[in-house]
Amino acid sequence: MADKTQEKVGKLMHEKEYIRNIAIAAHIDHGKTTLSDNLLAGAGMMSEELAGKQLAMDFHDDESERGITIDSANVSMVHDYDGEDYLINLIDTPGHVDFGGDVTRAMRAVDGCIILVCASEGVMPQTETVVRQAIKENVKPILFINKVDRLIREVKLTPQEMQKKFEGIINEVNDLIQQLAPKEFKEKWLVSVKDGSVAFGSAFHNWALNIPFMQKNDINFQEIIDDYSQGEKYKELAKKAPLHRVVLNMVTKHLPNPKVSQKYRIPKIWHGDPESEMGNSLSECDEDGDPAFVAVKIVIDPHAGEVAAGRLFSGNLKKGEEVWLNMAKKKTKIQQLFLYKGSKKVQMDEVVAGNIVGLGGLPDINAGETVSKEKITPFEEIKHMFDPVVTKSIEAKRAADLPKLVDILRKISKEDPSIQIEINEETGENLISGMGELHLEIIENRIKTEKGLDVKTSPPVVVYRETAKKDSGEVKERSPNSHNIFTINVEPLEDEVYEAIHESELPEGRIKKKDKEINEKLRELGVDRDEIKQYKDIYKGNVFLDKTRGEVYMQEVIDLILDSFEQVCDQGPLAKEPCMKIKASITDVKLHEDAIHRGPAQVYPPIRDALHRCIKAGDGCLYEPVQIHRVEAPLENMSDLTGLITSKRGELLNVEQEETAIIEAKIPVAEMIGWSNDLRSATEGRGVSSLKDQKFERLPNDMQEEVIQQLREGKGLSENE
Ligand code: GDP
Repeated sequence: MADKTQEKVGKLMHEKEYIRNIAIAAHIDHGKTTLSDNLLAGAGMMSEELAGKQLAMDFHDDESERGITIDSANVSMVHDYDGEDYLINLIDTPGHVDFGGDVTRAMRAVDGCIILVCASEGVMPQTETVVRQAIKENVKPILFINKVDRLIREVKLTPQEMQKKFEGIINEVNDLIQQLAPKEFKEKWLVSVKDGSVAFGSAFHNWALNIPFMQKNDINFQEIIDDYSQGEKYKELAKKAPLHRVVLNMVTKHLPNPKVSQKYRIPKIWHGDPESEMGNSLSECDEDGDPAFVAVKIVIDPHAGEVAAGRLFSGNLKKGEEVWLNMAKKKTKIQQLFLYKGSKKVQMDEVVAGNIVGLGGLPDINAGETVSKEKITPFEEIKHMFDPVVTKSIEAKRAADLPKLVDILRKISKEDPSIQIEINEETGENLISGMGELHLEIIENRIKTEKGLDVKTSPPVVVYRETAKKDSGEVKERSPNSHNIFTINVEPLEDEVYEAIHESELPEGRIKKKDKEINEKLRELGVDRDEIKQYKDIYKGNVFLDKTRGEVYMQEVIDLILDSFEQVCDQGPLAKEPCMKIKASITDVKLHEDAIHRGPAQVYPPIRDALHRCIKAGDGCLYEPVQIHRVEAPLENMSDLTGLITSKRGELLNVEQEETAIIEAKIPVAEMIGWSNDLRSATEGRGVSSLKDQKFERLPNDMQEEVIQQLREGKGLSENE
């Protein structure tokens, strides 16, 4: 390592007490990119002149054009606090909820989070979402209130009014923390002006303050207001109260180092044996233990190829070392190792626990992968807040470009795992699903401009869910050779269990032996003891139970049965849409004693057919995705806006009329295609809407037939498929 900063970074990575792994999370446009750039500049990683103008973290062309941050990449900086150097690793997170997947993944790598809120807009839907995502991963929040210059210059608030405004924001953030934080942190994690876990300032004008800093340096609110009323005097604020110093001091003082945080984070995100060697090394963040790394982001770098950025929670990794990929189930060799210096990567021979690092040259790695020396219990799956609900087909304009398109799609789904792709090399028609129209549009643009490939896409279609409304009763199916008989039953899964799966409180996967954690959780949810023992699989919001008794060969076929169950969950009987809230049970079984007569060809079809018949007999129906949006527009557009929402089968959940109209509405995703244009025309371009939540609700009865028909036609399904 050549220069001084590199040397410091290399040294500091061993000193856990001096490391802070953090993210900044905010509603779009509240100033996250400007803040990150100014922190980097302050730490001498980017020229101060350019900070806030260059947008160092917006490195995809379309991000700079649109002015929104899409991908998260890591940057590291060295910060001097009380005469000691600290290593701050900062993962960037996107502000648009369509890309919420990135936020969730970034939170896995960090221990603390700066919640950034714009002083004049206050807490917005995405602020809530990001606080939720942080706390879900046991990541501790602190608060930065940005754009205070606007309160002074545009809104012209007095010091008292300004303080009142801040109090409002702080209370809202604290309400959220209190509501969401685990019991032991409900009080401890509350942010407070007094202790300095809240700061405010202007990322644009490069200053920030908090009470401890104001007291130490004898600065008061009136002075700041005065500086803004005297020409360019406000520029001195950046010298008196430099943003990076105040914010990074707050980070260093109030956010935990990896050694402290891993003690309580590991039990939440890793479900192996806490008493084992691995368990100990993880909770101690021991760099001499065996390695355990979680990839949170795959960046395809033009020079280094694929780089998996993530968090090394335990042990150390060396260049050239052989490691085990737990998801891909493969051994592979680490070609390159990186630490970050500013936004640049620096090659290392060794990296150690407690840091955000990059691994190069592992072609089989995906985001969420657990990398270790030998096979270990992998880290909990990183779940996205919202499922992808909009799909488009995408084709290369020139047939000869098909292989190139397939290659690009594969790379894209690696870079952004919230994009799902389905490749059909035979027909050349590939499907790409994302979290919203804008999400897909951006991906499409990236393929066209960055990758230079001419593609055409179909109009977007909505992804539905299939489920059963009532108990189907028992359905019997024989295997093709008639030697085996399976009796299956399907009923709607209890709401509590479904919610627990959805909220990741109940981990998904096949249940091989007694799992204490799952058993306890099911008991808490009110499932009775006998039934808990029958749970065999939790799959994408559906469950499978084995209620048979005394069939000796059951153990040998159960995995085949579950394969078939999972296939049906992926493609239901009504229109081959995924299933949700299905509770399937096998209640009786007769198996041939000779294994040769009960192979996959004898098990898959009868299980599939029985499940299909059950779902239909249980009044099979479609659920559609609905989104809850917060829409804000001038008061005079109120009636156009409510008209627009009701014309889209929307439901008004809450209406506030003060300076502006703020409406919370629930609208089916199917009606939201083209939403940005519709909103623009209904409000003369002045309406803003943001996504608060997304869920699935029963499609109205009178639309069921028609939508099923449309979906089937769209997929070219024949009558008995
Ligand atoms: P992001 O979407 O959260 O990353 O937001 P950006 O950092 O891109 O900022 C959005 C817009 O707000 C840009 O036009 C910034 O110049 C502006 N902005 C950011 N911080 C401030 C601030 O403190 N004061 C003012 N007046 N504008 C700001």
